[in-house]
Amino acid sequence: MLEKKDFLENATTIIQWIQDYYNDLSKFPVKSSSSPKEIYDQIPSSPPIHGEDLADIMTDLNKIILPGITHWQHPNFHAYFPANSSVESVLAEFITAALGAQCMIWETSPAAAELEERMMEWIRESIGLPTSFEGVIQDTASTATLVAILTAREIKTNFTSNEEGVPNNLRIYASKDIHSSIDKAVGISGIGKKNLMKIDVDKQRAMRADLLQNQIELDIENGKIPTCVIIAIGTTGTVAVDPLKEIAVICKKYDIWLHVDAAYAGTALLLPEYRWMSEGIEDADSFVFNPHKWMFTNFDCTAYYVKDTLSLIKTLEVLPEYLKTNTRGMVNDYRDWGVPLGRRFRALKLWFVIRSYGLEGLREKLRKHIQLNTYFAEEIADWGTIEIMQDPILNFTCFRYIEAGLDLKATNLKNKEILDQINNQGKVFLSHTKMNETYIIRIVIGQTYVEQEDVDKVLKILKDYA
Ligand code: PLP
Repeated sequence: MLEKKDFLENATTIIQWIQDYYNDLSKFPVKSSSSPKEIYDQIPSSPPIHGEDLADIMTDLNKIILPGITHWQHPNFHAYFPANSSVESVLAEFITAALGAQCMIWETSPAAAELEERMMEWIRESIGLPTSFEGVIQDTASTATLVAILTAREIKTNFTSNEEGVPNNLRIYASKDIHSSIDKAVGISGIGKKNLMKIDVDKQRAMRADLLQNQIELDIENGKIPTCVIIAIGTTGTVAVDPLKEIAVICKKYDIWLHVDAAYAGTALLLPEYRWMSEGIEDADSFVFNPHKWMFTNFDCTAYYVKDTLSLIKTLEVLPEYLKTNTRGMVNDYRDWGVPLGRRFRALKLWFVIRSYGLEGLREKLRKHIQLNTYFAEEIADWGTIEIMQDPILNFTCFRYIEAGLDLKATNLKNKEILDQINNQGKVFLSHTKMNETYIIRIVIGQTYVEQEDVDKVLKILKDYA
């Protein structure tokens, strides 16, 4: 057991470890090649009876744990969407852990609640959201979307569903490319996945507003209750942007809650040149994006904005005797703004990141990533053996290898094999998706400290297969 008085000495060991990790990061295989149970089998089946030395624990960290880590902060992590971090965010997390505050209500740490309120205002202003929105930090976009659906459900059922159960004729709408967290939330909300209507997309893979309107009208004719439309600013597969403005008009006409999922691309709204993506946002009811994806704030940190906070709170509040306070109604008790009661002090890392970078510093980094992606896309476009599947957007490109004479099935197989081989080399990590039946390779250039030489490394590897 470590003594509190020896904290500095032991912390120095850990800090040195982190410094070495950062220095060596690009030497690690970016994707772990562990096989199932390889790590598990190295960990004793029972806990130690007597305490062990920190040095022994650290030895096992290096020997057992690190080989099973996929290095999300590696500059050549280009898979999925990043969950990037920064020095500032890590340092703030030290303090969050040291404070160990549980920020369920204002009284359990007034500074946490009030810093959260301010940070949400800073971000609201910085990404151009109207002041009619109020923000709260959630753990993930999945939770935020669940919260939006629950609130929409309660409004449409006159706040009876929490008490009496959910009628089976509520309808939710989203494009067929929407993130799987929406399917999950619709299931959890009790509305039922069969009531999630997936609307077809256009050539740019954005939701077709005309088809949405047709589906809503058909549903009304059949006695269904249109409850919530969820659109994406930046779908997971191809970063498609649904037509917010057009869809907002439809939602207004039929009195439907409009939730905007900008989990990844929302960070780009810090850049005035990308505000076109959120045109019409003043008519949405709720909006979510993840600073823990592309805003240099380590996982987890989701910004959820909502206009009708009264309905949100009415949907989620619980007030047992032991949580009653004298300040209720005068302050934000964020336990009523989300699903869990207990809450981490997440605002602190946002404060560190935003203050240390400044808005211009954040914008500079984002523009650099976008410029690196343009460079990447221009390079591969020249090879002749690569098809770029959608116009590159932000720091994202999707593409596939093509070869004369190969049909779709064979081309898909070839691309899958190439991607597996590339990822197995451990030098870079890319991921894939399918557009209709077409297998495509995705690359996101979003690591906090990524440089052109890292992109050149990917290009060199990809060129070997071209
Ligand atoms: N929405 C979109 C568009 C996403 O891309 C993702 C994750 O990649 C999510 C929601 C879920 O995010 P989280 O992991 O914060 O729940």
